[in-house]
Amino acid sequence: MDIKQEIKELREELTRANYEYYMLDAPTMSDYDFDHKLRRLEELEVAYPELITPDSPTQRVGGAVAEGFREVIHPVPLESLQDVFSMEELKEFDQRVMEAAGQLVYDVEPKVDGLSVALEYENGVFVRGATRGDGRVGEDVTQNLRTIHSIPLRLPEALPRLIVRGEVYMPKSVFHQLNEERELSGKPLFANPRNAAAGSLRQLDPKVAAKRRLNIQVFNIQLAEGKEFSTHTETLEYLESQHFRVIPHTLCRTIQEASERIMAIGDGREDFDFDIDGAVVKVNSLSDRELLGSTAKFPRWAAAYKYPPEKKTSKVVDIVVQVGRTGVLTPKAVIEPVRLAGTTVTNATLHNQDFITEKDVRIGDTVLVQKAGEIIPEIVSVLKEHRPEGAVPYFLPERCPVCGAAVVRDEDGAALRCTGAECPAQLLRHIVHFASRDAMDIEGLGPANVENLIQAELIKTPGDLYSLQAADVAKLERMGKRSAQNLIDAIEKSRHNDLSRLLYAFGIRQVGQRAAQTLARQFGTLDALIETDEETLTEVEDIGEITAKNIVEWFSSQQSRHLIETLKAAGVNMESTAEPVGDGLAGLTFVLTGELSTMTRKEAGERIQMLGGKVSGSVSKKTSYVVAGEAAGSKLRKAQELGVPVLDEEELLAMLEK
Ligand code: AMP
Repeated sequence: MDIKQEIKELREELTRANYEYYMLDAPTMSDYDFDHKLRRLEELEVAYPELITPDSPTQRVGGAVAEGFREVIHPVPLESLQDVFSMEELKEFDQRVMEAAGQLVYDVEPKVDGLSVALEYENGVFVRGATRGDGRVGEDVTQNLRTIHSIPLRLPEALPRLIVRGEVYMPKSVFHQLNEERELSGKPLFANPRNAAAGSLRQLDPKVAAKRRLNIQVFNIQLAEGKEFSTHTETLEYLESQHFRVIPHTLCRTIQEASERIMAIGDGREDFDFDIDGAVVKVNSLSDRELLGSTAKFPRWAAAYKYPPEKKTSKVVDIVVQVGRTGVLTPKAVIEPVRLAGTTVTNATLHNQDFITEKDVRIGDTVLVQKAGEIIPEIVSVLKEHRPEGAVPYFLPERCPVCGAAVVRDEDGAALRCTGAECPAQLLRHIVHFASRDAMDIEGLGPANVENLIQAELIKTPGDLYSLQAADVAKLERMGKRSAQNLIDAIEKSRHNDLSRLLYAFGIRQVGQRAAQTLARQFGTLDALIETDEETLTEVEDIGEITAKNIVEWFSSQQSRHLIETLKAAGVNMESTAEPVGDGLAGLTFVLTGELSTMTRKEAGERIQMLGGKVSGSVSKKTSYVVAGEAAGSKLRKAQELGVPVLDEEELLAMLEK
């Protein structure tokens, strides 16, 4: 077959398969065939790059990393909507519309809580996609929009120009999964699907955007050259025929009918795979729309009804504390079941101790509970007049309810955190971190495998890794004999790691990779570090008071000691293998202050350590030398007061070179 013809046929087949899979939920092509044909098309396109077209199915994730987003001017502005907050306001809207246009039909749609975008097609091919921006000028996010499988890259009918408007969102299920993954890898969580979608759509790397599995609901034609419509419904039906995913829409003959539909959408909000923040009522006739026109900000022919957060009273039956994967203790009120925003609610978040104290929530209290949007239900207030006698203020436990380890308050907030090195609630995260590349670097121990090992009860603490048997591991899902042995070998190999890796792997708060390296070099052995007190630790470069305290506390806990014993027994190396290059500066302690001109202070510190010297953060009588660079401050003064010898940069260099 002629190459051009083969490419054309492959594209048509793949485009149809994509539509059947993502839009109709009725695939007729197997995944295997799809992958196979896509690969063939890719091969052909690599061989004949001049035949690549922007609507090729291969172009969904092809793009290179962008440096920024170009501006796009919207030929038809993406208008905002007027909000109404009650049925009275909705009736007022209806009256205004009736006065201007007479008898009407409305269309009612859910208001998707995502990001508005305009998709532009030329001759039926998707050429550009842009964010709403300020409504007139948006950002070109074409590459990222291409990764959304429900956006057709080529339309059945090739109008000269078509611009449609829709709302990009992150499906709720994807959002939850993404946040779970982020929590595991210690990344900040997205507050809600909307923020997550916004972040994803503005990713400079389309490959990252592709992983976010965004979706779209299309709800308007902005411009259609060569096509006439008389109602909004007709435009939506046309969009459906062009393979767009179109917003659910219902025609209503009266405002009463419209308000019933709005309530039904609100009650059924849980069934959508997107968050909604209201419902939109639109005049259906396009000529009436023209008659009504727009204000400076929004069309007069539409209104967005915003659901009030529903509130109900219930009773706090109990307060329970959960320990998350990151060790954070989250208190939760168990309440008597109530129906709220379409779901039965049986508990409400209490956030943290500050929240509990401020609202003074006690077991037995009658409380007002609210569910705003899709957020977890929350306690709005306590109805103190209903408080039973003998109810006492509630305080979070001082020990972890899961493992019994001490609980500490985060340096930077109200969160309480369990410090248990072997806490079962944190096991997954502890081990994933322990095995990660910068820590013990155990290949093959990603979250999925760790999860399996824990499920199979093969590991209960990170120390158990070293007693795993290949035969047991081989029985796990997705593990063969070969990969089990590889994993065991990788674990085995990690025994010989430098102490700095082990220190980092412990996951002591604020002890990052660099601090771990400094500590390992400075103290040489784990035992030496364990014996060091807080004050001495603060003298080490980069170790502040809080970190020093964290280190001492971590090593003094029972679970940490047990973990260290287990690792020792398993033969894990506990010494620094970073040999000093020389010992010319052994026994000397330096304090660096001010700005050096030929190197940074950090580099100077490393060079001193390489020669066996120590670097400290503060000047004391024990300091051997203070090295003063440009604009040295209080440390230089202190040195002069205590009579500690002061070196300038040149003198230090001379010493290093000797
Ligand atoms: P607001 O941002 O509150 O002014 O509300 C207007 C926004 O609602 C528009 O920018 C649209 O992106 C969004 N929206 C979501 N769903 C719809 C819908 N079905 N019809 C019209 N606008 C919608």
